[in-house]
Amino acid sequence: MRKRLPLLTAVAEGVTGGPQIQNQGTIGGAACAGKPASDIPGALLALEALAVVQGPGGRRTVPATDLWLEPFRSALAADELLIGFDVAVRGGGSRDGFAYRKLKFGTSSWPIVTVGAVASLDEAGVLARLTVGIGAAAAVPFQVPAQDLVGSAPTNDLAEEIAVRAKDALTDPWSDELAPAAYRTAVLPAVVRSVVAAALTRAAGSQEARSCPR
Ligand SMILES: Cc1cc2nc3c(=O)[nH]c(=O)nc-3n(C[C@H](O)[C@H](O)[C@H](O)COP(=O)(O)OP(=O)(O)OC[C@H]3O[C@@H](n4cnc5c(N)ncnc54)[C@H](O)[C@@H]3O)c2cc1C
Repeated sequence: MRKRLPLLTAVAEGVTGGPQIQNQGTIGGAACAGKPASDIPGALLALEALAVVQGPGGRRTVPATDLWLEPFRSALAADELLIGFDVAVRGGGSRDGFAYRKLKFGTSSWPIVTVGAVASLDEAGVLARLTVGIGAAAAVPFQVPAQDLVGSAPTNDLAEEIAVRAKDALTDPWSDELAPAAYRTAVLPAVVRSVVAAALTRAAGSQEARSCPR
């Protein structure tokens, strides 16, 4: 997992609650619960995961972008079970970079904002793919659109552009006992900017490391 899906490892290592939660809580359970402040939904969006769902009528896949309908409600029907996720191996390649951060007030408190990003550069060192998943900020987690930025240089300006887009996409900010919607709206761009910059830097660093003679 550390080599193939390092983003998921980073998320798992940051889950609080001690060994009981880290060893027994499941990604599927967290996804089905659909709690807005969970770590898991935003990470699944960054990885463009496909949920595999089994019901009496057969099996279907649901993209992470369609998996949450509203807070605490997934797209599964009452007679369906989540049986797994299909996730493409991403984030650990020679031109890949990933980053995951969550903003929270206390060591064991729920996140206020989570941001996961996976960046891939092409042989010329420009952006080939970037997926950014935002959790805890909105009533349902969302992706930041970045497809049209393919071919851009992996600079801080690119990270800033994604931060602006994330704020624009936050149309339904979540509010709970930890933070009101206005606070989440205010802090989201800074977290996005730092996470995307870290993922791009890692991707560029992987590339430099790869071109070094062995
Ligand atoms: C002290 C503590 C600290 C925590 N810290 C964090 C944290 O830092 N970050 C974080 O993200 N979460 C945290 N959690 C939440 C924890 O991650 C979730 O409770 C856990 O992921 C839920 O997984 P589970 O397998 O226990 O699901 P369950 O509690 O068993 O299930 C959750 C819901 O999903 C449904 N469900 C479960 N599996 C399926 C399935 N296969 N198909 C259909 N429906 C299903 C259940 O019916 C239930 O409604 C914490 C929890 C505690 C108690």
